[in-house]
Amino acid sequence: MANTEQSTDRGGVVPHMSADQFRALGARMLETITGYWEGLDAGDGAGGGRLPVMCDKGPGWVLGQLPERAPEEPGGAGEWDAIFADVEKLIVPALTHWQSPNFYSFFPCNGSYPAILGELLSAGLGVNGMLWATSPAATELETRLLDWMAKAMGLSDEFLSTSANGGGCIQATASESTLAALLAARQRARAKGAEEEEGNSPRRATEGHGGRQGWGEEKGRGRGAPEYVVYASTQAHSSVAKAAMIAGIAEGPEDPHIWLVPVDASGAMREDELVRMVREDVTAGRVPLMVCATVGTTGITAIDRVDRIAAALESVPGWRGADGSARGWLHVDAAHAGALWLCEEFAHLRAGLERVDSICFNPHKWMLTTFDCDLFWTRDRRSLVTSMSINPAYLKNEASESGAVFDYRDWHVPLGRRFRALKLWFVLRHYGLEGIRAYLREHVRLAALLERWVAEDGAFELCAARTMNLVVFRPRGKAGEDEAAQDARTKDLMDAVNRGGRLFVSPVVLPREWKGTERDQLAGRLAIRMCVGATLVEERHVHGAWEEIRRVAREVTN
Ligand code: PLP
Repeated sequence: MANTEQSTDRGGVVPHMSADQFRALGARMLETITGYWEGLDAGDGAGGGRLPVMCDKGPGWVLGQLPERAPEEPGGAGEWDAIFADVEKLIVPALTHWQSPNFYSFFPCNGSYPAILGELLSAGLGVNGMLWATSPAATELETRLLDWMAKAMGLSDEFLSTSANGGGCIQATASESTLAALLAARQRARAKGAEEEEGNSPRRATEGHGGRQGWGEEKGRGRGAPEYVVYASTQAHSSVAKAAMIAGIAEGPEDPHIWLVPVDASGAMREDELVRMVREDVTAGRVPLMVCATVGTTGITAIDRVDRIAAALESVPGWRGADGSARGWLHVDAAHAGALWLCEEFAHLRAGLERVDSICFNPHKWMLTTFDCDLFWTRDRRSLVTSMSINPAYLKNEASESGAVFDYRDWHVPLGRRFRALKLWFVLRHYGLEGIRAYLREHVRLAALLERWVAEDGAFELCAARTMNLVVFRPRGKAGEDEAAQDARTKDLMDAVNRGGRLFVSPVVLPREWKGTERDQLAGRLAIRMCVGATLVEERHVHGAWEEIRRVAREVTN
């Protein structure tokens, strides 16, 4: 018979960390983080910090030092000392230092102390804001921040949560926003198609589900799914094709249900080509589902002219439903560049946003907010929510049923969601919109300086117009050198610079459709891109980086 007296043996249950221990270790962890950030910029003025930006460890270096199995026994006294030591010894050396002021690769992934404090609080509070009812503060703070940002960026009132059918939420990434937009687009196109079919033909008997238990009322299914098509420029991010693949619209990136629209000499989508493609599809009986315009393309930060795209689409029969209401969906991916919507001098980047169906940008790229944080707005939240709403009994609650609240789990793929709004809130309160604007403007100023240095150096040439904080260049061609040799020299320079470890730059292949245009010499050619957007970057870093590139170029490419 079981002993009914209280036992001191809790069957191996390990006591939780005590509050005092957490306080002490928490302070030590903050010190570790602060020391890391300080180490990123030793301030030697030559572009190098204590830590090289690039990681020099090979594949398996970390794996080789980690035990093959999880520890069976709880860590004893000293375990936390060992953990801190392992972070120093095993983790930090195998990092690429994204927060280094000399990180010029890809687009940045901004962090800041206020945002880190938000992450800490989010983890500490430990809530899951999947429904309004599961933590009203998580939903309502997010709703308010999305409205703040929409107003600060001059978005139309139709994107506000207070509008009849609009609103925004935080998605993890721009890729997920594009997928959400695509699912909403399909929802709306299906609904439109069903309405039109119903109007045109006698009501069809619903196909049965063979008595299978489902999630709700059985709905009619179309006779054959229409062939949907998605459009984006050749310079759009690969996440557009990926979204089409995930949604089952395309079988792979080369699938013809994703049209890649050629770009012009600035790298912007050609509206005439887009219209030609959409018309061709409509004539062939396919349904133009979504156009994804990019403001600030990944390769060269080109800017699709959203206003002209929207106007051009209006001219295509089939883009709207038979009754003139919206059918095709226009999404804007401004993952990196969207932060500039805050600045009046970049108002041209906003042109046409009042005519689109959804918009996203990532504060985690260039607005001081730690990864992950993508802001997504739509002015058709009904289509979005319908596309992802499913109501098992365990999620039903009064607030949801009242219709008076947003349940953000219906706005994206995951059910559970972190309290990401906290970090954005802290960033907005710490820096203020003016502080953020000044931060962005400083990066644009530094990029302009870099652009000037490149232009003034006879050994280099600029390869694309600078639209914001990205400079694209390559070593100038030599007499008698063919394209392949020049590309090889560009690559050698880039590799040598990155191997040096003091800065990190990335490559771009320039638009192939520049062949036969004024940019013929650059069509399909390799160039180096340097994006000035790291949280800690200052003029001395950019200057040091440029001097380092020139030095390496003299060594490598002569
Ligand atoms: N869209 C553009 C224009 C990008 O440049 C990127 C990444 O750099 C993405 C989307 C993907 O971003 P995320 O990692 O947020 O999905």
